[in-house]
Amino acid sequence: MTTDSTPSPNFIRNIVAEDLKTNKNNGRVHTRFPPEPNGYLHIGHAKSICLNFGIAAENGGLCNLRFDDTNPSKEEVEYVESIMEDVRWLGFDWDDRLFYASDYFEKLYEYAEELIRKGKAYVCDLSPEEIRAYRGTLTEPGKDSPYRTRSVEENFDLFQRMRAGEFEDRSRVLRAKIDMSSPNLNMRDPVIFRILRAEHHRTGNKWCIYPTYDFTHCLSDSIEGITHSLCTLEFEDNRPLYDWVLDQLDVPCHPQQIEFARLNLSHTVLSKRKLLELVEQKHVTGWDDPRMPTLSGLRRRGYTPESIRNFCERIGVAKRESTVEIALLEHCLREDLNKRARRVMGVLRPLKVVIDNYPEDLVEEMEAINNPEDLAMGTRKVPFSRVLYIEQDDFHEDPPKKFFRLAPGREVRLRYAYYITCVNVVKDSKTGEVTELHCTYDPETRGGSSPDGRRVKATLHWVSASHSQEAEVRIYDHLFTKEHPTDDKEVSDFKIHLNPNSLEALTSCRVEPGLRDAPPGSRFQFERLGYFCVDSVDSTDAGLIFNRTVSLKDSWAKIQKAQKKKGQP
Ligand code: ATP
Ligand code: MG
Repeated sequence: MTTDSTPSPNFIRNIVAEDLKTNKNNGRVHTRFPPEPNGYLHIGHAKSICLNFGIAAENGGLCNLRFDDTNPSKEEVEYVESIMEDVRWLGFDWDDRLFYASDYFEKLYEYAEELIRKGKAYVCDLSPEEIRAYRGTLTEPGKDSPYRTRSVEENFDLFQRMRAGEFEDRSRVLRAKIDMSSPNLNMRDPVIFRILRAEHHRTGNKWCIYPTYDFTHCLSDSIEGITHSLCTLEFEDNRPLYDWVLDQLDVPCHPQQIEFARLNLSHTVLSKRKLLELVEQKHVTGWDDPRMPTLSGLRRRGYTPESIRNFCERIGVAKRESTVEIALLEHCLREDLNKRARRVMGVLRPLKVVIDNYPEDLVEEMEAINNPEDLAMGTRKVPFSRVLYIEQDDFHEDPPKKFFRLAPGREVRLRYAYYITCVNVVKDSKTGEVTELHCTYDPETRGGSSPDGRRVKATLHWVSASHSQEAEVRIYDHLFTKEHPTDDKEVSDFKIHLNPNSLEALTSCRVEPGLRDAPPGSRFQFERLGYFCVDSVDSTDAGLIFNRTVSLKDSWAKIQKAQKKKGQP
């Protein structure tokens, strides 16, 4: 993988460095990224991916991709494929280390038998409701199950018959025998196998019992020789159970679980369950809707993998929960696109301009710079002719103070072309709407400067009417109007905060002719407007469709200033 900058220290990097110094794990570093295939990956997962693959790469170690697929009913092949595509797109490679927790079902069954043999697990016939009632609360200890004292032989026999399918779903479970009065509820004889007749996407109908997450995860880590098992903070209370299971059993190794704070991002939600709700209820067009915080949505929107990796590095890794402004993600994207995106001209809301004194049949090829940040990207020719389009809001018939763009009698510069002066305004006789401007140009100002040193206060982008290509442009805004849509205690449904104006489709835009064959996914800066990319799903030969990736206006600097004032880092 490529590192974009020198990694900055964080507490996990420090732990790994220390372990290497003391030769713990014989100097090995082996991590894993363990998604559950029950949805598409989102930007929060990118943090975990960058951390796991990054830590391994920085230390000459390895990182596995493991599907944590112990939950048969919710998992689908579509998700497995999208997850692999997204991890690869981000720039990471698991080589031949692609694993599935379901590949370990037999092994996990044997480990469960080992626990039974050691008197550390028992088959419990309490109903799920009874188990919950017996568990106690944070302030009260739990009660022992009446089945807790079953003999090893009886447990052995019942567990085998559970596997053989002799019992109904939910009628029995296998539980670890730990401590019903533990202050940690996870340690109160947790369920480790349950009966569930459900078809699994990989094992089909082979199994009617499935191991729980807690039992599966630590053992999968150990089977794969993981050294550092990095997970999010909500698993902190599961760590004693992680360690307990590995301590009881004869396992290949005992990885160290380390928790870090998950990424929360403003103006969106990062939970697969909630994102699925948006997809299923058609609030968005799919998991890859350009408004979604999923990696496939961000990719379709025009995000680069480099900008996301850079973002993940900048937000850092800590133990404390916090919410990151979506403006920072956008800032990282602008930084990257500024360096690499070709500048072009596109007019989103066209207003016709006729240059009265320009020859009817003349077409001039104006030379335009592809990227002032990188002159090696060269120049291109843009056709200029008598009839042009400019942006509607670059003209004001009755210009307010501080409006320096085009107005009656006023002269402005057309980028890479000429100075023009507005001499006449044509309006729709019924609506009063401005439909056309008549201007004159000064032939002496070719290239955009005047030999007599005359200055103009504005430079406008434009396209030639007859040469330009029609396109649809989709402008996106935040998916939610509220900064923290799920924090609102007043409403029960976070979807109330969906932004009704998160998508605006402009269907009669005009772009330079050079964009006619721009391939899906290609990115550009439309001068003065922002960064845009060709939609990779809906754009076809019949119609060119752009997504606005991000505007040019960077709100991050402003937010940073305000945070500094408030004394936040
Ligand atoms: P979600 O809450 O979105 O459903 P999850 O935690 O259930 O996510 P998993 O598929 O289990 O999703 O996640 C795979 C890995 O990604 C886990 O190690 C998890 O801790 C990590 N992860 C998930 N969400 C985030 C996040 N917002 N920030 C950082 N890491 C995350
Ligand atoms: Mg999960």
